[in-house]
Amino acid sequence: MAEAGSFAEKVKQQADIVRVVGEYVRLKKTGKDFSGLCPFHQEKTPSFTVSPIKQIFYCFGCGKGGDVYNFVMEMEKCEFPEAVKVVAEKCGIAIPRQKERSPEERKENQQRALLVEMHREAQTFFVKQLEGTPEGKAARAYLEDRGLEKDTIARFGIGYAPSGGDTLLRLLKQKYPEKLLVDSGLVSREQGGGRQFDRFRRRITFPISNESGKIVAFGARALGDDMPKYLNSPETPIYSKSNLLYHLDRAKEGIRRDDFVILVEGYMDAIAVARAGIGNVVASCGTSLAETQIKLLGRFTKRVVVNYDPDAAGQSATERSLSLLLERDFEVRVLALPPVGNKKADPDLFIRERGKDEYLKLLKEAPPYVDYLIARARHMDLTTGEGKLRAVNFLLPYVQKIPNRILRSEWATRIAQQLRLDEPVLRAALSKAATERRSEVKTQPELVGRAAKPVERRLIRMLAEAEGFRLELAQHLQNARLYHGLETEKIFAALVIASLSGQPVQATELAGVLEERDRRLLFEILFEEANEPTWEEAMSCIEALQHRQAERELADVQRSIEANPAAPEMRGLLEKKQELMRRLAAAR
Ligand SMILES: [Zn+2]
Repeated sequence: MAEAGSFAEKVKQQADIVRVVGEYVRLKKTGKDFSGLCPFHQEKTPSFTVSPIKQIFYCFGCGKGGDVYNFVMEMEKCEFPEAVKVVAEKCGIAIPRQKERSPEERKENQQRALLVEMHREAQTFFVKQLEGTPEGKAARAYLEDRGLEKDTIARFGIGYAPSGGDTLLRLLKQKYPEKLLVDSGLVSREQGGGRQFDRFRRRITFPISNESGKIVAFGARALGDDMPKYLNSPETPIYSKSNLLYHLDRAKEGIRRDDFVILVEGYMDAIAVARAGIGNVVASCGTSLAETQIKLLGRFTKRVVVNYDPDAAGQSATERSLSLLLERDFEVRVLALPPVGNKKADPDLFIRERGKDEYLKLLKEAPPYVDYLIARARHMDLTTGEGKLRAVNFLLPYVQKIPNRILRSEWATRIAQQLRLDEPVLRAALSKAATERRSEVKTQPELVGRAAKPVERRLIRMLAEAEGFRLELAQHLQNARLYHGLETEKIFAALVIASLSGQPVQATELAGVLEERDRRLLFEILFEEANEPTWEEAMSCIEALQHRQAERELADVQRSIEANPAAPEMRGLLEKKQELMRRLAAAR
């Protein structure tokens, strides 16, 4: 993370965690530290603590902890580089221009910058085509016919790719190397490496921007009956379908503010919903939602209304997305639009035909996902036992994905009522599903009740903080294998390895590699009241550990002796026992 000598490290040194956290949490001085109500969990008495000396925070309630960057990442739901920027800005530190590390990296960055530039030029080109050519005029008529007026066309940067076949290619060729043209995805090559031509021809174009608003790809809809109806950019160095949500760049502010988002399938749907006055909409641009897209979304909100197409593909996409969203603890509602006339309605068609008020009304009434699923299950044949079993089996996997056990059991009851399940077998299956989660994502961390012995706690603290003799202490512990077999072994191992490397030890970064229980314990130890460490104290802790090690060995030897008194190695065992007893007596 904050590597020595890096900009992030420099900012961290200059930033005051108390000041930064103080912008989000009302802090009160308590002894050497500050405390306040934790912003990450609900509480009435403060268990959230900030140490100005160590420049770290820790919540004794929920266990969140780390340095100033961890705090900002958690608070702003952003990644590390953005957190560095936020902290630098808050502290008035100028942000240097990004420097590349290696020649390859520089080349890749240059290439990416060129690809972004090409997309910008392509965008200008497509927009001009729509505005100023006879072909574009026909395209405009088509758009108007679909209710997209001038404002909307401009707002969403809608353009037109002409039928010529190489108009864009000729324009780009003047400026960019041939290989880059194909890499951009804007140009295709004939099979067998032959002639190049424009990828998008005779199509309405929709620019697709990444989270920061840069155009990185295009979606294109056929104007006539050309197939496929929708054609998108391929994966390129600047565009990966599964890492991007259409319209997120414009919607993210609102999503964070209102803590809610509508998820639709295609860009036409997103545009239609945004035009209806709900800017908090993103499109997955494809029928299946990827894990990475869910993670991206989770940085802005955990409340989603899924509004996919009602066709079979859309329905199964909805159900697949539900599973993924539930696993990640999203609060999900489903908006299933009724048909318009005899046509199944996607958001675009529905809003065009029935108006935005009708859409908004249905949005407000969108049921929680379980009701949606129960409604689906009720369409199955529930008159026979077999049919009911099928319905329950359809629902069970979803119930099991809900992380909260109380919610799971509430839903189980509800399903039983709604499907009128009187059969004890089905009820049993449901309540079993409610008490256990088959696809447990993460087990709840056990609270740190486990008492690490004072000697271990003290040594851990010294390894983390005693700049003067950390290295020697680590060597002692390592050579005599003193921490092996201790409950705190993993914490010791992480600290010892870091100390032996000679690098400055960052306890908060080490915490990142530890399991939840160990991570919490480490933070609690760091926040304990303690005196300045001394080498004498360190040595007496080491002696105590040696003593415990000898006791453990003695017990082992004794067990071996008793297990098989006639063993040929008995002599050696007895000698070992004598030696251990002498050592223990001397230490007393
Ligand atoms: Zn907390």
